[in-house]
This record gives sequence, C-alpha cells and structure tokens, in this order.
Amino acid sequence: MASYGRNYLARPLHPNSSDPEFYEVKSRGKKHEVAVGDFLELQTTSNNQAVIETILPRNNLLFRSDAFRSKSIAANVDQILLVLATEPGFSPDLLGRAAIAAAHEGIELRILLNKTDLKEQLLKARELLAPYQHLGIPIHEISAKFDAHGMASLEPFLGGKVSVLVGQSGMGKSTLLNQWIPSASAQTREHSTKLDTGKHTTTACRYYDLPASWGMKDGRLGALIDSPGFQEFGLAHLSESELQHAFTEFAPYLGKCRFHNCTHSHEPGCAILDGVSQTQISPTRVKLFNQLVHESRNATIQTQGHQSL
Ligand code: GDP
Ligand code: ZN
Repeated sequence: MASYGRNYLARPLHPNSSDPEFYEVKSRGKKHEVAVGDFLELQTTSNNQAVIETILPRNNLLFRSDAFRSKSIAANVDQILLVLATEPGFSPDLLGRAAIAAAHEGIELRILLNKTDLKEQLLKARELLAPYQHLGIPIHEISAKFDAHGMASLEPFLGGKVSVLVGQSGMGKSTLLNQWIPSASAQTREHSTKLDTGKHTTTACRYYDLPASWGMKDGRLGALIDSPGFQEFGLAHLSESELQHAFTEFAPYLGKCRFHNCTHSHEPGCAILDGVSQTQISPTRVKLFNQLVHESRNATIQTQGHQSL
C-alpha cells in the first residue's frame, strides 16, 4: 500500500475481524525489493508487524535504473498515467522514456496533458505530443484545477484498473490526485504516521482505492498509485534487443537493414533511417533509441567492471 525506502505498509487481502488495517512490513536483509502493488505472503511478528516470506509472481514491474542503481515504481499495474503540463514545459525525453518503459512491460500508457486552461503553451505541447498521438497513445487534455467535469469524464478509463501516476514535479500530479480522491491527503497523513516518514511524504509511493462506482475488475476495485515526481527516467536495464522491440513503430523495419549488426545511427542501407526519411518514423524517436542504447551499453560495462573487482 505504501513504500518509503525499505519500509512498507501492507493490508490483508481478505481481512478477518481481528486483523489490523495495515501491517508494517520489513524485508529480511536485502532479500526482497518490494514495490507498491505487490502481493506478499507475510509472517506476522506482532499485532501489526510482519516480515516478508514471499513476493508473489508479478504481472509487471515498472522501474527505472541507471548504471548504479534501480528504483521500483510500482508492480502489477494495468496502465501508466503520465501527467504532463502546458506550463512549466515538460521534458520530451521523459515522455519518450515513459513510453518505452510502458511498451517493454506491456502496460498501457495514457497521457494526461494538464493545465490546458493556460493556452499560451498549448500548441507547443500538442506539437511535442504529435509523434505519440501518431503511435496511437491516448492523450487527454485536462485542467485538474479548473475543470472538474473534464476530470470526471476520465473515470471510465480508470474504473477497475490499477493505474500508476508518473510525472515530473510541478505538472499537477497532486492536484489531480486530490481532485479524483478527495480523501488522498488524509490517507497520506495516516500512511506517513504509520511509516514514520516524517516530512518526506513526497518520496513515498502510495496506493489509493478508487470508488466502487467507477467500476470493478475480477471483484477488485481499481486503484491509483502515486509515485514521487522525478526528472530522470533511466532505462539502463533494457538490452539493445529489448529496446528495439519497445520502439513499436520500428517493427516493420527490423531485420531489413543492410548490415545485420546495424546500430540505426549512421549506416548506409539502414531500414529504420529510411523509415525516418519516408516520415514513417519520427527522428526524435531514433535519437532517443540511440541514446538509450548508449546508456544500456555503459551500464553493462559498469556492471562487468564491478564483477571483475
Ligand atoms: P505536482 O508537483 O505534480 O504534484 O504538482 P502540484 O499538484 O503541486 O501542482 C503544481 C502547481 O500547478 C500548483 O501551483 C498547482 O496549483 C498548479 N496547477 C495544478 N493543476 C493546474 C491546472 O489545471 N491549471 C493551472 N493553471 N494550474 C494548475
Ligand atoms: Zn539500421
């Protein structure tokens, strides 16, 4: 239900009347890296404390990583809600990476362009989003602060699903969460007291149930998982081949380059670059691909370096 560093809160899936609302959960040593949304088997150690026995197999795990460490965002999610805004301008790089993480894990991506009441930068935002619209990713223009009706019209896209909210800070993620789940700040305070996070409430991930009236799936409520705002979205854990497949628009061109070890950056007879010149593939996407391959290789070199020490 909530994670802060290596401290977690979990709730019983089918609670008995004697069960506490939450267990404070610890992992034994560094064995278990848990994410919000995980299903756990616990061994209780006191009334409201427990240690992790097992993490049940996941449908997916959204995480980011650079050459040195990785950070789990959420597990077992149905969709990613990427919150962008007209102002301050969002990072197209982060948008591109979120799309790759989603495609790799087989999670739906839905883009929420917030603060569309601020019209000045709206066209620019739409321009940056055009390649993603072209890829068929749904984009909703919203104003979390000023358009409650528009926000309510999104409820059918969330009902019965577990959605994770991601975005840079300042995009309006908290405003949006509180608009959809008015009790969110009260729940956050309760979680924070139990997790003893003190002031660091914004560095935790949290799980909020959605109202039953929004819809159920397999007898379960939908949920929103809030993650801390971040500026970097490293995908160093993806191999070159995984990256190629996560750029779904590359699919018709893969295997058609002149050289079998083509890096799609400068080679003659590159089918991907031909796709760009025929405007079937956006040049910014190829640039992102090359950057991600570069980071992935660097990470491999770093890891090998560590192992040989
Ligand atoms: P977070 O860092 O992503 O959680 O962003 P916040 O929810 O704290 O919002 C950042 C700022 O944007 C705050 O000053 C909000 O009042 C403002 N904001 C949020 N949503 C909207 C919106 O729809 N329109 C406008 N004009 N401002 C908004
Ligand atoms: Zn190529």
